[in-house]
Amino acid sequence: MLENLNDNSCLEPPKYSKDYVYRCDICDEEIFEGDSYYEIDSLIYCPECMEMHFKFTAISTDMEGYLSDLEHEDITN
Ligand SMILES: [Zn+2]
Repeated sequence: MLENLNDNSCLEPPKYSKDYVYRCDICDEEIFEGDSYYEIDSLIYCPECMEMHFKFTAISTDMEGYLSDLEHEDITN
């Protein structure tokens, strides 16, 4: 069993010479010492995934419509 494991690791050449500290739980991106990363609910996110999954662009027209709806409710109540 140990010999098989060794053979498998030899088949995969190391992509990076430097050891990573963490791996992104979403895209498996290596996060190296000194790199920024995000941790939410013990999941590790690289900055790219953080932007992709948690960064949104505020659209003011939707917010205005939401607020005016609230104001309208207040008036009718
Ligand atoms: Zn990622």
